Amino acid sequence: MQRRSFFKLAGTAALGAPLAHGAEALIEKPGGVTEAARELPVAGEFDVIVCGAGPAGVAAALAAARRGAKTQLIEVHGCLGGIWTAGALSWILDSGNKTGIMAELWKELGQRGARSVTPTGKGTNAYDVEAMKLMLEDLCAGAGVTIRLHTRVCAALKNSAGRVEHAITESKSGREAWRGKMFVDCTGEGDFAAQAGCGFDLGHPETKLTQPMSLMALVAGLVPGEITRYYHSEETASNWNLTKDNLRAEMERGGHSPSYAKPTLFHIRGDLFALMTNHEYGVLGTSAADVSRATVHARKEINALLDGLRGLGGIWKNLRLVATAEQIGVREGRRIHGLYTVTAEDLREGRRHADAVCRATFGIDVHATNPKKEKGIEKAGFRPKPYDIPLRALIAKDVGGLMMAGRNISGDFLAHSSYRVTGNSVALGEAAGRVAALAAKANCLPQDVKLEEAQA
Ligand SMILES: Cc1cc2nc3c(=O)[nH]c(=O)nc-3n(C[C@H](O)[C@H](O)[C@H](O)COP(=O)(O)OP(=O)(O)OC[C@H]3O[C@@H](n4cnc5c(N)ncnc54)[C@H](O)[C@@H]3O)c2cc1C
Repeated sequence: MQRRSFFKLAGTAALGAPLAHGAEALIEKPGGVTEAARELPVAGEFDVIVCGAGPAGVAAALAAARRGAKTQLIEVHGCLGGIWTAGALSWILDSGNKTGIMAELWKELGQRGARSVTPTGKGTNAYDVEAMKLMLEDLCAGAGVTIRLHTRVCAALKNSAGRVEHAITESKSGREAWRGKMFVDCTGEGDFAAQAGCGFDLGHPETKLTQPMSLMALVAGLVPGEITRYYHSEETASNWNLTKDNLRAEMERGGHSPSYAKPTLFHIRGDLFALMTNHEYGVLGTSAADVSRATVHARKEINALLDGLRGLGGIWKNLRLVATAEQIGVREGRRIHGLYTVTAEDLREGRRHADAVCRATFGIDVHATNPKKEKGIEKAGFRPKPYDIPLRALIAKDVGGLMMAGRNISGDFLAHSSYRVTGNSVALGEAAGRVAALAAKANCLPQDVKLEEAQA
């Protein structure tokens, strides 16, 4: 039986942390309340603790555990996969040049019959959301990763030298502390790093606006051969933009103009498609009130758009909504300050680094931040060359023992719009997990891990 130890927590409300319950623990002050100090149970001690189990977090946990690290993965939703599963994304970008865990995931999805194939037998970027959930759980179990679902990371505790030592969580089990030698923040919004006191950037450097959110939907009742004008298929591959414009025109004919000017259907299998059709503007992924408002608004719009299409009859007559995503897709969160910041210049020049851990090849993809000017994709003004992401962009600058992976690594607004896609998130997660395991084993900081081992 595991021994329960306790950790005393001073009552500071960390960034984004929910307030504690239990009226006796609260001291009321005008405009706020202060929590009294209290003791927390230590849920466990680990070599590597990964916060957030999206594409980056799962890859980080797998890589760390496979390096022999005792690894804990903490996730707020009821499944692993983040945008892939809770977000129902269904489409993986910038994975073609990736080896390691990303290649393994595609192979495993294929073996499970969960990767979409074209009529001529070519694998596409699409996968089955439910199969992905089970597959990620199986892989984590196989690697010896301990998983905690339905648990939100809500604070970080550092030692006097500024090294992170505990993650604090809230869940049905109450508030708990998790002791770790190394931490990897894969929460997308960089929650844990911000709670630990790291500096970060958020949004456009001048306007401070972030890219809009989109709620994914799974829809069925469509015959692929009848709707090739409206989705990316082998026949339409050369002009995907046109299929989006065709779909928008149909939606408008049905009586509703989508808030995203480039609505997109991804074919998964049989009559099942994923649909991305809305933009929620002027909302922040770091505000629960904004995320709630955006989710409710988006769900209403999706239903109205689908009702309109169905009302057209013909090829749309059997269209039905299978599910809207549990989590609205948040494109942008905090970009945590690291030892290196990936910039638009890196993309323009196709910069290379000695400590490269990922080669990104995806274009700049800024979903318009101001709907009065544009409701589709903003033009970047240049086409990036394939570029490297160095390990330093994954190591937190302001605190010790903390790495980042996925969309919350250190980068500028334009660079983020390219590297954030999930093929890169997996490669970054894998590198962070591997380095975190090595640092934990050697009892050193991630920046002190030997480069040849870090890149192995
Ligand atoms: C609408 C939309 C469409 C996109 N289209 C594509 C596409 O077609 N293909 C593609 O490859 N990419 C696409 N992207 C980009 C890509 O999906 C993201 O950038 C990607 O999710 C990054 O992966 P991640 O692991 O960093 O973050 P996420 O997938 O966001 O994972 C973060 C995880 O952390 C968890 N978490 C968050 N906060 C906490 C906390 N405090 N405590 C515990 N857990 C927490 C979340 O629940 C989640 O599981 C799209 C993004 C959006 C929003």
